[in-house]
Amino acid sequence: MNAAKVLEDLKRRFPNEPEYHQAVEEVLSTIEEEYNKHPEFDKVNLIERLCIPDRVYQFRVTWMDDKGNIQTNMGYRVQHNNAIGPYKGGIRFHSSVNLGILKFLAFEQTFKNSLTTLPMGGGKGGSDFSPRGKSNAEVMRFCQAFMLELWRHIGPETDVPAGDIGVGGREVGYMFGMYKKLTREFSGVLTGKGREFGGSLIRPEATGYGNIYFLLEMLKTRNIDIQGKTCLVSGSGNVAQYTAEKLIQLGAKVVTMSDSDGYIYDPDGIDREKLDYIMELKNLYRGRIREYAEKYGCKYVAGARPWNEKADIALPSATQNEINGDDAKALVANGVFAVSEGANMPSTPEAIRVFQDAKILYAPGKAANAGGVSVSGLEMTQNSIKLSWSQEEVDEKLKSIMKNIHEACVKYGTEPDGYINYVKGANVAGFMKVANAMMAQGIV
Ligand code: NDP
Repeated sequence: MNAAKVLEDLKRRFPNEPEYHQAVEEVLSTIEEEYNKHPEFDKVNLIERLCIPDRVYQFRVTWMDDKGNIQTNMGYRVQHNNAIGPYKGGIRFHSSVNLGILKFLAFEQTFKNSLTTLPMGGGKGGSDFSPRGKSNAEVMRFCQAFMLELWRHIGPETDVPAGDIGVGGREVGYMFGMYKKLTREFSGVLTGKGREFGGSLIRPEATGYGNIYFLLEMLKTRNIDIQGKTCLVSGSGNVAQYTAEKLIQLGAKVVTMSDSDGYIYDPDGIDREKLDYIMELKNLYRGRIREYAEKYGCKYVAGARPWNEKADIALPSATQNEINGDDAKALVANGVFAVSEGANMPSTPEAIRVFQDAKILYAPGKAANAGGVSVSGLEMTQNSIKLSWSQEEVDEKLKSIMKNIHEACVKYGTEPDGYINYVKGANVAGFMKVANAMMAQGIV
């Protein structure tokens, strides 16, 4: 494989999809050497078959708002690769959603799911519908209209969606309800369901907790204790909330959280009570993070991200490309020695270079945030054996999966000077399993 040539071809065939190109470039540049040790891969053009999704569904979603106006949005499902299990990956509802973003997410998901050691392929879906400012009834009508089209393409053994930005327990519940009505089947077709109807304990917490379990493994390699460390968290949604919760439990100090309008800086640290306030504000009232600063009298910076604040550890947990090269330089200059990604691809390629050149601990999302999909995989297992595991059982399994992912990264990513290149480690480990499965299944 000539990685530059493969990428050039993809850019020509699929223009205007910069996030997809970015994700592919990052993977190709790290797996090229390993790939080329296996001439049998190139004989069957494995790389193109792995980069281009198996199929993409695109559809119009039509729904009625509270004023009786008819609205249209675009809906998508990208089924990227099912060599090691049914397609699996979240659904994102956000005004920025387009096909290129979902293709990047589905591509990443394929490697991430492979790393979890569970039998899941990669997929992703979503819509440019924004739940922001919508009533409950509008969100329900939208979810139902979305599922009216999506249902024929998914199934517990085919493709199992979950939540992502803008899709939490409420949206998964509405989509599950419509799927059940259309198919007359109660199945594990979605994960992240409510506890009462097949949801797994610890699924809401899994991505944030998993990220911290991964961070602990990284810190262990340098004998660093997390207690008392100052942490920057971005976002204030599902991943950010449970990242902060676990950090607080472990005695770290969380000084920032954010939303798409700005960030708060609380030098005293966000404690349990303040985090409860954020959870209520975001999950119940769907308010803005600015209101935290008004309530607790701390700094609020509109239109900015928290990366210029002084800290030890950064946990980006909002969205893609939220840390650019300059942000990364500021983080390193301010003493940050570990970055562990809760979000998917939050660091630009320039930012990743800055972290790696500075030899700080840096974990890409596909390794560090794999806890979410791992517990989704555990939810699928519980649904199919029709049993529910206890909180402790699921949490233990999550810890052990994150530990295994860390070990795989160390195995494939340790460089001659001992520095662990987690990007390379995660990509090579994730890739080899999918590649071997594809080779065994012939040209399909
Ligand atoms: P939520 O919708 O619960 O929260 C997203 C948070 O990020 C909100 O605070 C939101 O602010 C902010 N945000 C979203 N888009 C932007 C933007 N363009 N610029 C600045 N801030 C933004 O989503 P999740 O917490 O579930 O997801 C966060 C990240 O984690 C995503 O990258 C997702 O792909 C990734 N992830 C999620 C998993 C999960 O299990 N949920 C699993 C693995 C990864 P606002 O409220 O203003 O919209």
